[in-house]
Amino acid sequence: MSELRAKLVAGEDNRSSFDCAAHAVSSFAQDDKFVGDSEQGQIQGSFATLRMTTSEECADASLGMTATNEVENDHEDDVDVTPFDKLREECGIMAVYGHPDAARMTFWGLYALQHRGQESAGIASSDGQELNDIKGMGLVSEVFTDEVLARLPGHIAIGHTRYSTTGDSALLNAQPISVESTMGLIAIAHNGNLVNLGNSKARLERDGAVFQTTSDSEIIIQLIAHSRCNTLVDCIAESLAQVDGAFSIVMMTRNRIFAARDPHGFRPLSIGRIAGADGAPDTFVFASETCAFDLLHAKYERDVRPGELVMVSEDGVTSRRFAPETVPHASCIFEHVYFARPDSRIFGRWVQQSREAMGRQLARESAVDADLVVPVPDSGVTAALGYAAESGIPFNFGLIRNHYVGRTFIQPEQRTRDFGVRMKLNPMRSLLEGKRIILIDDSIIRGTTSRKIVRMCRAAGATEVHMRISCPPTISPCFYGVDTPSKRELIAANKSVEEICRFVEADSLAYLSLVGLTYSCTTNEPANGLSPASFCTACYTGVYPTQWVDVEDILPAGALVG
Ligand code: SF4
Repeated sequence: MSELRAKLVAGEDNRSSFDCAAHAVSSFAQDDKFVGDSEQGQIQGSFATLRMTTSEECADASLGMTATNEVENDHEDDVDVTPFDKLREECGIMAVYGHPDAARMTFWGLYALQHRGQESAGIASSDGQELNDIKGMGLVSEVFTDEVLARLPGHIAIGHTRYSTTGDSALLNAQPISVESTMGLIAIAHNGNLVNLGNSKARLERDGAVFQTTSDSEIIIQLIAHSRCNTLVDCIAESLAQVDGAFSIVMMTRNRIFAARDPHGFRPLSIGRIAGADGAPDTFVFASETCAFDLLHAKYERDVRPGELVMVSEDGVTSRRFAPETVPHASCIFEHVYFARPDSRIFGRWVQQSREAMGRQLARESAVDADLVVPVPDSGVTAALGYAAESGIPFNFGLIRNHYVGRTFIQPEQRTRDFGVRMKLNPMRSLLEGKRIILIDDSIIRGTTSRKIVRMCRAAGATEVHMRISCPPTISPCFYGVDTPSKRELIAANKSVEEICRFVEADSLAYLSLVGLTYSCTTNEPANGLSPASFCTACYTGVYPTQWVDVEDILPAGALVG
């Protein structure tokens, strides 16, 4: 992130109009996997680096990074077709306390959270005496074989799967990050993105901190390691109170687990429990999304509350606050639009319920005469089902997605013919030919992919293509753990809806209104449940819940001319 920062007073920013356009992302089957022999080689080659608690081990990590770069250089002529013009979630986190094979349970949890990050995976575990961690580049199942998991014994574990937004995208910044403190070794796994780091980092370095990574997550653990409080739990609470931005974290020592969410509650984190068999104590689990609990047969208990620090030890579960309850909540509404799996319960609400309501509301707000509702798979599927149910227009899969597309060599001449998108999506001519279709997607980020999909549908015989987007136009970047382009690259920040419609070559284009989106994410909530004010909607409004954001990134394209 750029060092150019400025304080924004909420409401002063005048870029909250929705005259501009476009946003969102794709759904739970973000199968942007790295496949192919050389990618496997990257995992094996970089896998020698384990825990980074000393500078020597840090140097090992650098070697791993070099190996990684060498592999990537072999692919200079490759086209990475995976991004697909979608925003990307940064991380998934997981923790297990009180299971004899905690690392394997964490592995399965991370497996269910793979859609939240595909670049690296890591697990730390402890048997009460010794804390070990292993990290590698690649998918969870590629990094953690049976043999590797066997090197992570113990009843306590935390895990992380990563797609980075700050720090280098490399093994050096893979998590969990472990740091030695006066109170022993501490490991952390973080989902989110901190803001306003400059002062904290400079002060820590003056106090002798040696940063091992360029990740913002390390700030938290270094603050803890340099805290002068008497107990570890006080050190953690004091440190969390000093940082600003988005953080859902799990941490561990040799014999305890900690879990916390930032006071705004940007990113999700839930607590589950597995009943102990034959009188054995229960196992406690923490995960970014509840879909991870299902795989472990864990029962959802509740969310970690914004501003809450939960500790699990042999004495049981305790909780304390590190921030007042009066801080306004700002849970990321985009988790409901796109990031989270539809079978997850996020911020206490089923994602599927919100997404279907978005489709229904979109049909009410922007009806159009047509023959077929077609989702852009996979992210548009649930909203398209809602749209079809509300409009009475038949639904069908007019586009088929290949889930096994990775980083693949494409001949230079193929690049000019939309080859990347066609590798990933294939139209069903038998369904589209002669039909007026409503294409449902959850985002238009730069617009180029949407245009290719519209062209693809027309080429397959669709007579009209009407695009409907299940959230408002994305007009501003995210600073809270989501990889977004800067404002100059967001098409909606620079063009009107009509201009975007012309750009993507659709017959018509409409977005869900902001009121319609918050209604969809709160309808049928109990009186003490989610309300429109519970959510961050900054990427649709340009009004940020925290005071510090990156000025350069929020400048519109016009401001950069000259
Ligand atoms: Fe989510 Fe807010 Fe970031 Fe948008 S700006 S992706 S709503 S946290």
